[in-house]
Amino acid sequence: MKHLRNLPLKNYCTYRIGGQARDVYFPECVDEMVEIVRLHRAQARPFWIHGGGANTLFPDGDIRLPIISTSEMTATARNGSTVVAEAGKVMDAWVLEQLREGLGGIECLSGIPGTLGGALFMNAGAYGHEISDHLESVTVLTPDSRVMDIPKAECGFGYRRASALRDTVILSGTWNLPLADPQTLLATRKEILARRKEKQPLEFPSAGSVFKRPEGAYASQLIDQAGLKGARVGGAQISEKHAGFIVNVGDATCQDVLELVELCRRTVRERFGYELELEQCLCPFCPDHE
Ligand SMILES: Cc1cc2nc3c(=O)[nH]c(=O)nc-3n(C[C@H](O)[C@H](O)[C@H](O)COP(=O)(O)OP(=O)(O)OC[C@H]3O[C@@H](n4cnc5c(N)ncnc54)[C@H](O)[C@@H]3O)c2cc1C
Repeated sequence: MKHLRNLPLKNYCTYRIGGQARDVYFPECVDEMVEIVRLHRAQARPFWIHGGGANTLFPDGDIRLPIISTSEMTATARNGSTVVAEAGKVMDAWVLEQLREGLGGIECLSGIPGTLGGALFMNAGAYGHEISDHLESVTVLTPDSRVMDIPKAECGFGYRRASALRDTVILSGTWNLPLADPQTLLATRKEILARRKEKQPLEFPSAGSVFKRPEGAYASQLIDQAGLKGARVGGAQISEKHAGFIVNVGDATCQDVLELVELCRRTVRERFGYELELEQCLCPFCPDHE
């Protein structure tokens, strides 16, 4: 298995932010993933599972926490309308492959960056659809290092959460996708991609929506109504196009983003009484830093 040292994580996440990771492991299959995770656990060494880094904010300094990347675990298989895919498969590439094969139900997820493992971990979704919609089961490595299939109903899926998967390492997923006409599916995909391009600040690095949608409101609207659109700290800015995004407009640091996050939370709490919950994941520096 590939093991790289002193890797600049800014090259491994969509924010383009992050310091150097001392150790990054790239297991190439489920067996290698199981082996490296068990090894770390046997030494009581915490680690960070890295998918596509499209929902992650890495710290600026030296990162001592070992990083285990799923990026080499990308195998997929199909049997009729049942599709199995490993966690490191890039979700949008997978979506496109299925649509071309006439398998649908996932066309609205077109354009979401990151891997299937990251998507399952967060129950990623868009336009009323979620990655869990046509899911049958998830294969995970449990906290006590057993490989186990968890049926969808037991994954604890909700809005941007999968509570029963939180402390697991997601190895693969199995979906049963409805059959449909490929041309219709691809036309819907085209529309979705155009909508995303129109609404989202795709011209700047970001990690998507910063906050979850609070009950009964939209985080982006609250931030906008609080007059924070365009607010800037260092190289990080609350997007002028979509106030739910923080964008890296030039050499932003993790600290810059965190200060903007705090500004949004404080202002929205004071002005509207809503408590904004972070959707993005914060990677800690080292085993004992939270
Ligand atoms: C421009 C842009 C638009 C976006 N639009 C959307 C959107 O419309 N809807 C949406 O839901 N999200 C959106 N996102 C956020 C992001 O694309 C999703 O959250 C995506 O699912 C993250 O996947 P990832 O592989 O990059 O996860 P990462 O950022 O690598 O990881 C996220 C979390 O998942 C954990 N994780 C990753 N893989 C595994 C695994 N195999 N096992 C266990 N834990 C794992 C990580 O440890 C981390 O805690 C957007 C992001 C960007 C940059």
